[in-house]
Amino acid sequence: MSFSPTTFAGERFAVVGLGKNGLPAALALRAMGADVVVWDDSADARAQAEAAGVSVAEPAMAGLTALVLSPGIPHTLPKPHRLAAAARAAGVPILSDAELLYRAVRNNGSRARFAGITGTNGKSTTTALLAHILAEAGWPVAAGGNLGTAALALPMLPDSGVYVLEMSSYMLERLATLRFDAAVMLNLSADHLDRHGDMAGYSAAKYCIFDRQLAGDTVAIGVDDELSRGMAARLRGRPGRVVTISAEAGADVRAPHGVLRDPVGPICDLGEARALPGAHNWQNAAAAAALALGLGVPREAIARGMKTYPGLAHRLERVGVIDGIAFVNDSKATNADSTARALACYDRVVWIAGGMAKAGGIEPLAPFFPRIAHAFLIGRDAPALAETLRRHGVAFSEVGTLERATQAAFTAARAGATNTVLLSPACASWDQFTGFDQRGDMFRAQVRAMGAADAMKGAA
Ligand code: ADP
Repeated sequence: MSFSPTTFAGERFAVVGLGKNGLPAALALRAMGADVVVWDDSADARAQAEAAGVSVAEPAMAGLTALVLSPGIPHTLPKPHRLAAAARAAGVPILSDAELLYRAVRNNGSRARFAGITGTNGKSTTTALLAHILAEAGWPVAAGGNLGTAALALPMLPDSGVYVLEMSSYMLERLATLRFDAAVMLNLSADHLDRHGDMAGYSAAKYCIFDRQLAGDTVAIGVDDELSRGMAARLRGRPGRVVTISAEAGADVRAPHGVLRDPVGPICDLGEARALPGAHNWQNAAAAAALALGLGVPREAIARGMKTYPGLAHRLERVGVIDGIAFVNDSKATNADSTARALACYDRVVWIAGGMAKAGGIEPLAPFFPRIAHAFLIGRDAPALAETLRRHGVAFSEVGTLERATQAAFTAARAGATNTVLLSPACASWDQFTGFDQRGDMFRAQVRAMGAADAMKGAA
């Protein structure tokens, strides 16, 4: 099954911002029969688009069905991009690729359903987990959006299929007709305020995930933070079945002490879900379960999916066990808040951290310092991290590179410090890597190489 080449015949789109989503969106729209012009302010990106054979020009607004603006480009705050401003002045809608996927699916006559996931933290995990549960249940499923495959690069699904879309607040502001059969807003904390002005603006953008929902739809909402609870109160009295979710007690779908349950009873023990450690993941599990139940997945299939979920790279990813010592790659943790979630999962660790620290550094991690047997610090801000650890009496070494840290952490763990080595840097990676994914990939590769060397030694 694929999208008809006349899906968007006679329509004209401008795609602006040729990042991860822009070029696939342009190519997909063209394959569906649209007339497409693309633009990026970077000459390199324009050259790449030209090489891919799409027509590159600064778009005129006359006759456009829509301007497809990359999520990274603002249309309001802090300052609208000039092409976004031109579109608004001309009355041309600014849409996200998720909206166009929805239109394409409906234009092709498919009644495939849509699940949407948003929140400040846990979006990718919940998206991947729900997609895994649906696939395990034998349903046709396609997942993507903000993370992973661009929405418009997803395949066409039949009526029985479900699209699982991770929605950033920027994507949510650019919808017009997309209606989610099941949607969740996980949690809210201060983030991206430059783009939304203030918390009210940010929360309003997240609230858009519930727009257009109808009586039978699932409206799932986290209640583990104050702002989300406020949103939950506002959702009552709207169409749709409101389902509250929580990592703890006091919600419809919840996981107190890691036992996932809904009003009917227990679903499964998340202690058996190896890739979902920690209370933050219980919230994600509750969210995925609420959506799966709303879509009609049997409870047993949900339980099975939780247990067999393989996890995502760079998020508490167990990349190897050597000589009884587990190596955990949590490179995605680029701030203290994320690292706190990781440290909360282990009683005692050898910790690898550092890079470019965020405001506030690692001081907020102080309650977890007693769990750190030894810290190995890398990157630009190692001296600042060292200073905090020194003040709190935590043993540490400044070792410069990740490679040295990994080797030294293994040696320390083996000498009896603990059986877990955790890379959870609490810092951005740009000083030494192209991104958190390269940092995590290098850690994984080194652990595998150390494992192979160890096995050879054992065999010799
Ligand atoms: P997102 O896609 O929203 O960035 P991810 O699923 O990629 O979220 O998780 C990123 C990091 O955020 C994780 O490594 C973890 O530290 C933290 N996290 C995940 N889920 C939650 C949650 N429900 N609440 C708070 N923090 C979370």
